[in-house]
Amino acid sequence: MDEAGSSLVVHAGHLVDGTGRAPQPDHAVWIQDGRIHAVGAAPQIEQDAPPATRRIDLGDDAYLAPGLIDGHTHLSLAGDGRPYAEMFSESDEMMVLTGALNLRRHLLAGITTIREHGARNRVGFTLKEGLGRDFIPGPRMLVSGRPITCTGGHFHMCNETADGEEEIRRSVRRLVNEGADYIKIMASGGGTVGTDPTRASYSVAELHAAVHEAHHFHRLTAAHCRARESMVNAVEAGIDLMEHAEFLEPDGDLHFDPDLAKKMTEAGIWISPTLQAWCRWPRVVCLRHRRDAGDATDEELLELETLEVRARGRLNVMRRMLDICGKERIVPGTDSGVNDLAFGHLDYDLELLVEVGFTPAEALESATRVSSEAIGLPAEVGTVEVGRAADLVAFGGDPTRDIAAVSDVVAVFQAGFPVVSPDPDHGRQP
Ligand SMILES: [Zn+2]
Repeated sequence: MDEAGSSLVVHAGHLVDGTGRAPQPDHAVWIQDGRIHAVGAAPQIEQDAPPATRRIDLGDDAYLAPGLIDGHTHLSLAGDGRPYAEMFSESDEMMVLTGALNLRRHLLAGITTIREHGARNRVGFTLKEGLGRDFIPGPRMLVSGRPITCTGGHFHMCNETADGEEEIRRSVRRLVNEGADYIKIMASGGGTVGTDPTRASYSVAELHAAVHEAHHFHRLTAAHCRARESMVNAVEAGIDLMEHAEFLEPDGDLHFDPDLAKKMTEAGIWISPTLQAWCRWPRVVCLRHRRDAGDATDEELLELETLEVRARGRLNVMRRMLDICGKERIVPGTDSGVNDLAFGHLDYDLELLVEVGFTPAEALESATRVSSEAIGLPAEVGTVEVGRAADLVAFGGDPTRDIAAVSDVVAVFQAGFPVVSPDPDHGRQP
């Protein structure tokens, strides 16, 4: 990325810096070598930057913010509604191409950092290597490689099966050796045929072996936990981040457990509730559009009603969890790639966080500063501050007032390079 080496001043009508401060009017960010060199009132930055510095003016209506972070993606899956078995019938080569397309979609939606939460064989690692060589555009990427799962467990198709503490330790070592930035482990069943999402798939001792070994290599851990039983195990094992946290019981229902929520809070575990995934939000949005346009069939209206009732149950559990756990350790995650969860829509998760009680400003912070802490990159991304990577997104409205503004992306910069820009002379559509 030659251009990242050059100096650039980005001027916007408003700056939302991700630290919790109110939007600052008429601000500018001075970028050098892909990093934020200075940030402040536009007249001052304009004066300080050398005259030859390239300038991009995003206009008075633009709200410049830290690039968004999605802590839960499956790049190799198309998110086109096909069942796992069909998606996994693709070759590894096709999965890499699918991943390249998905990286671009996320980047264009203002998502500049992701965690790749599990792909087959070397697909995740290959995508990261392609990004590193600048072969393909995409968000900066932390890669888990393959998720660790028990024999026949959720995502066993990815080929990192391990049973018992010894095999799990070996899996962690193998993944770290291949380049894993963090470790993902499947603590309960999931959507994979033959697995049971309402039951734990690993014991506390097994999960602890993963945590102990990962931490030995300074790697964080994330556990897929749909069953309440798996949530208990993950907390006891010291997992760093819990995915889904649905409180699913063997009867198939969600049963909120306040004592468990208290333990989660005391443990300081990060929680990624993946709300759009459970709520099947892309489908809800699509059906609502059809209803509002008067195009929905009776069947579709019934489907919408069923989905809305199901979503309400999940969101109520989430609200009760927030009453105990607070908002400071909650991060959004799309689970993109799975089912019909297409890439490019972290906005859906932020919308749902607002639905359960976050202010729009808090939702944006959870996708930026809070997420940067949860994934272990707090000094690198998540806020617009001197020294951070110049990963930025600009919205056409104020996202701290109306979260819908997050869907209106007008510019994206990654490591100081404009990947989407309102000025065609300055930008490059990746
Ligand atoms: Zn997932």
